[in-house]
Amino acid sequence: MLVMEYKAVTNKTQKTAINEAIRTSQFVRNKVLRYWMDNRGVGKKELYRYNTHLRDEFKFVKDLNSHACQASVENIERAINRFFDNCKKGKPGKKGYPRFKKHTRSVEYKQSGWKLHPTKRRITFTDKKGIGELKLLGKWDIHTFDEKLIKRVRIVKRADGFYVQFCSSVNNSQVAPKTDTKVGIDVGLEYFYSDSNGNHEENPRFLRKAEKDIKRSQRKIYKKKKGSSGRRKARGIYARKHLRVTRQRNEHAKRVARNLCLVNAMVVLEDLNVSGLVRNHKLAKSIVDASWYLFRRWLEYFGSKFGRQIIAVPPHYTSQECSNCGVRTQKSLSTRTHSCSNCGHTEQRDINAAKVILRRHLRAGVPSVEESVVRANGRGGHPQTNASGVVVPTSVGSNTCKSKQRQ
Ligand SMILES: [Zn+2]
Repeated sequence: MLVMEYKAVTNKTQKTAINEAIRTSQFVRNKVLRYWMDNRGVGKKELYRYNTHLRDEFKFVKDLNSHACQASVENIERAINRFFDNCKKGKPGKKGYPRFKKHTRSVEYKQSGWKLHPTKRRITFTDKKGIGELKLLGKWDIHTFDEKLIKRVRIVKRADGFYVQFCSSVNNSQVAPKTDTKVGIDVGLEYFYSDSNGNHEENPRFLRKAEKDIKRSQRKIYKKKKGSSGRRKARGIYARKHLRVTRQRNEHAKRVARNLCLVNAMVVLEDLNVSGLVRNHKLAKSIVDASWYLFRRWLEYFGSKFGRQIIAVPPHYTSQECSNCGVRTQKSLSTRTHSCSNCGHTEQRDINAAKVILRRHLRAGVPSVEESVVRANGRGGHPQTNASGVVVPTSVGSNTCKSKQRQ
């Protein structure tokens, strides 16, 4: 699945119309959720029937393309299934009971309700929401794609305007250079990650650099009168500054992940996504969580694109264990060097951890190539969580604004 994104040029009425469409899709989603909550045990069919009923009852729902309404129902259906799945599997901790949405930022169309201009530089939304024709800005070559391959069209709202995303079912795997190197990586605060070959990737600290500026624009909001247009503008400036940091972070995570996947046939990392476990063997890691998930998702994306294995191993004691002999040595967060009490092995702390991570996978047995391909597709019964089994960031329906691919 490939997602292409364009910035849309909009006028005032179009903005209102898009906001109205987004609100309607949120309304449908929340209404269907309410219906599901009030009527225990209703199935998929009833949810869609209720959607039809909503369309008859409310004119503004009817105005939104019927498939776009369906996409909203699908959205809540996915949330419900995920919740049931978590319960069935006995996932520890919270099960993710579906929640009402308050600030939806996108509306999703399927294969109807829109039309591409012959030049494919403009798109017209043909339902009764009155969005009309939008000019598209961006470098993507949508020309090269058959229109039938476009499965979803999404309008996404961001602090600096509206974006149109096209999700097409193109297989975007690429031939990458042949390699058989395996690398273990450990993410941290001091460095973005450290690998088992002894390299450190610097931490860019985008937020820290921009923090002062962001804080200043945040203070400006509170100096303006509540409800005034000055306050609304100040809030927009503040949001755009945050958006910039988010984008920088995303670009950085993407670049680093791509490089790792290009050079290595296998990337082994810690499976920090284990809820219900005490996952903070390094306290500071909670702080980098956001970047870490982003990074991991990009690794999974490029892993499947280049045919690389991305493997997650259990995270326990990776920073305490010795990469040479495997004996655990207690150390505090401030101890930056690993020094083994058993064999006397000394190494930089994060490099040692990266080696432990790689070793942990190799010790569990290296699968043959055929097997590993199956595992990479998430169908294998390996005791370790294969990271590729998790949702790939570009899958349709994943509500992410970070799924823009350029490579
Ligand atoms: Zn040792």
